[in-house]
Amino acid sequence: MVNNYLGFPDGIGGAELLELGRRQVERFGVDVRADRVHAAASEGDGFSIDVAGERVTCRYLVLASNKRTDLATALGLVLGGFGNKFVTVDSAGLTAVPDCYAVGRITGLPSQAAISAGDGARVAIGIVQRIRGGYYVDHDV
Ligand SMILES: Cc1cc2nc3c(=O)[nH]c(=O)nc-3n(C[C@H](O)[C@H](O)[C@H](O)COP(=O)(O)OP(=O)(O)OC[C@H]3O[C@@H](n4cnc5c(N)ncnc54)[C@H](O)[C@@H]3O)c2cc1C
Repeated sequence: MVNNYLGFPDGIGGAELLELGRRQVERFGVDVRADRVHAAASEGDGFSIDVAGERVTCRYLVLASNKRTDLATALGLVLGGFGNKFVTVDSAGLTAVPDCYAVGRITGLPSQAAISAGDGARVAIGIVQRIRGGYYVDHDV
């Protein structure tokens, strides 16, 4: 039961919170997959991802895998922070690997769902601003 996520005054079950989140991002065209990413590597101007036997490429990579840092270290990132368990990022969420970002708990932020969600939003807007140039406001009208 999650009682400290803003917007759910009576609390919400963890599984239900995830399901609502999935439905919400799918409404905006996100392709949500439950498959494990087995490998990630820099390739050309971006990254190559090995997921469920399929090779997917992307321009930017965002690591959001909480305590799982195997992909980060495979990319060449050196862990730091408390107990050397976290990925170091700059103020934009960028790691030492160009165009590779990290968000949420994997960066050593306090373990609260709202903090990781907010960090993901902050970094995502930063990537949009980088691509489009200039200040970007994501508000519905
Ligand atoms: C039992 C429990 C109860 C909690 N209760 C609360 C609470 O009441 N309130 C609160 O604010 N916080 C709570 N937390 C903490 C909260 O869940 C975390 O702080 C938050 O989820 C961190 O968000 P994140 O996005 O950084 O990582 P996560 O939400 O953990 O997401 C990481 C995701 O990456 C996926 N992943 C990792 N490696 C791979 C891979 N190779 N391929 C594909 N996917 C991968 C994982 O499967 C996971 O879905 C609780 C945590 C636990 C364990």
